[in-house]
Amino acid sequence: MAVPRSRISNARKNSKRAHHAKKPKNLMACSNCQQPTLAHRICKFCGFYKGQPIKAKAEEKN
Ligand SMILES: [Zn+2]
Repeated sequence: MAVPRSRISNARKNSKRAHHAKKPKNLMACSNCQQPTLAHRICKFCGFYKGQPIKAKAEEKN
């Protein structure tokens, strides 16, 4: 296993982690029910994707 030659300072460690923040999820409005849904995924409220019903029993589960 590779061993680090020297200790990384707190400033170097923290500046490296400055880019690790979580980004907000990419929400889009559903074309059918206008609810906020994840992009490139079936709408979890009405089961539609690209204007077509994918999940037949979407309303029964919710
Ligand atoms: Zn929808």
